Amino acid sequence: MPQQVRGVIARAKGAPVEIAEITIPDPGPGEVVVAVASCGVCHTDLTYRDGGINDEYPFLLGHEAAGVVESIGEGVDSVEVGDFVVLNWRAVCGQCRACKRGRPQYCFDTFNATQKMTLEDGTELSPALGIGAFADKTLVHAGQCTKVDPSADPAVVGLLGCGVMAGMGAAMNTGNVGRGDSVAVIGCGGVGDAAIMGSRLAGAGTIIAIDRDPRKLEWATELGATHTINASEVEDVVEAVQELTGGFGADVVVDAVGRPETWKQAFYARDLAGTVVLVGVPTPDMTLEMPLVDFFSRGGSLKSSWYGDCLPERDFPMLVDLYQQGRLPLEKFVTERIALDQVEQAFESMHRGEVLRSVVVL
Ligand SMILES: [Zn+2]
Ligand SMILES: [Zn+2]
Repeated sequence: MPQQVRGVIARAKGAPVEIAEITIPDPGPGEVVVAVASCGVCHTDLTYRDGGINDEYPFLLGHEAAGVVESIGEGVDSVEVGDFVVLNWRAVCGQCRACKRGRPQYCFDTFNATQKMTLEDGTELSPALGIGAFADKTLVHAGQCTKVDPSADPAVVGLLGCGVMAGMGAAMNTGNVGRGDSVAVIGCGGVGDAAIMGSRLAGAGTIIAIDRDPRKLEWATELGATHTINASEVEDVVEAVQELTGGFGADVVVDAVGRPETWKQAFYARDLAGTVVLVGVPTPDMTLEMPLVDFFSRGGSLKSSWYGDCLPERDFPMLVDLYQQGRLPLEKFVTERIALDQVEQAFESMHRGEVLRSVVVL
């Protein structure tokens, strides 16, 4: 039987989000209904609300979630009813040219549920990143469910589903940060701070946090930054990074902002043959003009990181285990726990830079 539950909907561009009754169909082949336990408020949800991704309103927001499998459709054998799962937005296909070459983290054909969740009048909902978890329950593809240690706090480990994984993976997977490396991270919100935490986990020696907001630099220090640079107080961020790295620049620089000026800083703040990782998301109007010879003469690699080049099946259980062992301070990302009807206020707190993550607990 299809079920009626509460969900947080964005009906029109820029309009405040609201709670609506939504209909969840029974899971079809390959699909799973998940009873949501928690869902973090990510900047991408706000971007959906504001029309920055597409105009397929109404959106069912929320995508950094953990929960329990309630029912499974035909042919699902990767999870069972009762499994505790973290949801991911890249269920890899195993068939595309990237998957076939053994690089599923680049899968070009990821899965979502086939059926649609709807409003009571039958209007189809567009779930954010194919998840839509600001809701009591949601319908996803089985491949979007990754089983993890059920004794872990859902509000904490659900955050691995998006921003925290994107940041950690930008450092560990894309940037390939290793023992003793120097790392600089530009922008210390959720993703940047996760890159700092990932760099520490990977054994980086010097970890430099760069932001304009002293509060964010404090968070960065708690998560493992060894040095901070307040970009509004120094004349030249690149020189400041060089000063902290023996005059050379960092081995890996992560741009977690994604603007031409921050990417340029990242480019010039790295050592010769160093790595730049772009994980902040630029807008389509942004362009870059730079001397081509600088790209050639400085060598190294210039990379972008989607979802931290993660493989949920490989990375989520491992990171949850490290968190459970006290080796990964994931809980520091949870600034506040809120109710389903407080998502709009959480957007405002996020906009003012007051929170690393607000997490809806259901
Ligand atoms: Zn694939
Ligand atoms: Zn997100």
